Amino acid sequence: MLDKRKFYINGKWVDPIEKKDFEVINPCNEDPCAIISLGSKKDTDNAVKAAKTAFEIWKETSKEERLDLLEKLLVVYKKRFGEMAEAISLEMGAPMDWATDVQTGSGLAHLEDFILRLKEFNFDEYFDKKSNNHICYEPIGVCGLITPWNWPINQITLKVVPAFATGCTMILKPSEIAPISGMLFAEMIDEVGFPDGVFNLVNGDGAGVGTQISSHPDIDMVSFTGSTRAGRLISKNAAETIKRVCLELGGKGGNIVFADSYKNAVRDGIRNVMSNSGQSCDAPTRMLVEKSIYKRAVDEAVDEANKINVDQASKKGDHIGPVISKTQYDKIINLIESGISEGATLAAGGPELPNGLNKGYFIKPTIFTNVTNDMRIAKEEIFGPVLSIIPFETEDEAVNIVNDTSYGLGNYLQTEDREKAHRVAKKLRSGCVYINGNAADAGTPFGGYRQSGNGREGGVWGLDEYLEVKTVTGWK
Ligand code: NAD
Repeated sequence: MLDKRKFYINGKWVDPIEKKDFEVINPCNEDPCAIISLGSKKDTDNAVKAAKTAFEIWKETSKEERLDLLEKLLVVYKKRFGEMAEAISLEMGAPMDWATDVQTGSGLAHLEDFILRLKEFNFDEYFDKKSNNHICYEPIGVCGLITPWNWPINQITLKVVPAFATGCTMILKPSEIAPISGMLFAEMIDEVGFPDGVFNLVNGDGAGVGTQISSHPDIDMVSFTGSTRAGRLISKNAAETIKRVCLELGGKGGNIVFADSYKNAVRDGIRNVMSNSGQSCDAPTRMLVEKSIYKRAVDEAVDEANKINVDQASKKGDHIGPVISKTQYDKIINLIESGISEGATLAAGGPELPNGLNKGYFIKPTIFTNVTNDMRIAKEEIFGPVLSIIPFETEDEAVNIVNDTSYGLGNYLQTEDREKAHRVAKKLRSGCVYINGNAADAGTPFGGYRQSGNGREGGVWGLDEYLEVKTVTGWK
């Protein structure tokens, strides 16, 4: 078992001040795979103090100095790429191919893209050519970064890298359920040799270190990715000190499949939902199908779901692993059971364990048909490999169903009619709309409307989150 009980504070790995062990569970076999410490207020205060002191020097560094360190970090990330994939596979139960190409690959893509954006970013500009007002972009200060377990290094790089790039200092609290990748990232930062105190890592849970971060008077901003439940609590705690709060929260994506969609639209939609064992905030978990193709779409969806294997992370091949924890497993099974009792038709999967898997948090790819948008499975974020299929007749009806949710993160639509695609994309109330399965490019903004959050990560929008804007008159 890995011993990961230290924190990274002020450029050193240090013991926690109060001993409080926490086991990290391997979701493939339910056994502990690592021990971390849950931090106390004193640990958080020490990290904040280090970040506050470091900010005085780090904020004065030039873009070139920060670029130099980020480019070194990119080299180390590439060198230790395989170790990162292994860490993510272990803590999440993600199959190695997925942990490598997609999960670890996402961190690499963000690092590369932020380096590019920083090179092009202008921290000083004039209001317009005629004015002598000067506009400066300055780092906001000490940042508290709180991340989830489902895309661990994706979320960490989306926060840590722009915070570095803009001249901020930080305290990272990775998810206590999947902290190993975050600790490895801290090792990489240490290997590069960022100045002491610029980056600090304290492990802990939401009630402890998470709350200490959101309410800390010396933290200027919190960037949080996780559940809407925690986002609400963080906003309330942060209100007292009026700190900036950037939230990236849950979702309940709709995927409108029109009758004129491309051939594999339904199958691609199923693969998209089930990938990462259904644990993606922007997964298209409500598939809306035009009535004229409903029967064919259901047949294809069920066939595709039944083709997806569920197996151990260590196995090679194109399969999905378990969900992250016992808590998540119980929640998902409870929602599957609610779908059955509320009258939806269980067309594939179900609450029983997949064949041959008696241990671990494995769930069969599950499809419900004849779902109405008022059922729990259509309203709540399930965060597991579960899809609801809802029929519709008109374009307006489809748009209304998709928008009838408190979330607004990622929505999807499938049609060969470009005009219709543009029209519908504009009507969908979400931070991203994906047409015909096209992925978003690195450096495009990612974030939600409504209760999916208020932040935008990635590219220049991701840099903006960590900056204050200052107007200086009489500059020339
Ligand atoms: P979670 O909210 O339980 O935990 C996320 C992080 O917040 C963890 O580090 C946790 O320790 C911490 N936390 C929990 N309660 C807190 C509190 N009261 N104060 C401060 N910190 C607290 O979420 P999770 O289960 O780890 O992640 C899954 C959720 O994340 C899903 O809802 C998913 O949709 C969302 N998510 C959103 C995005 C996005 O970009 N919008 C990306 C990935 C995941």
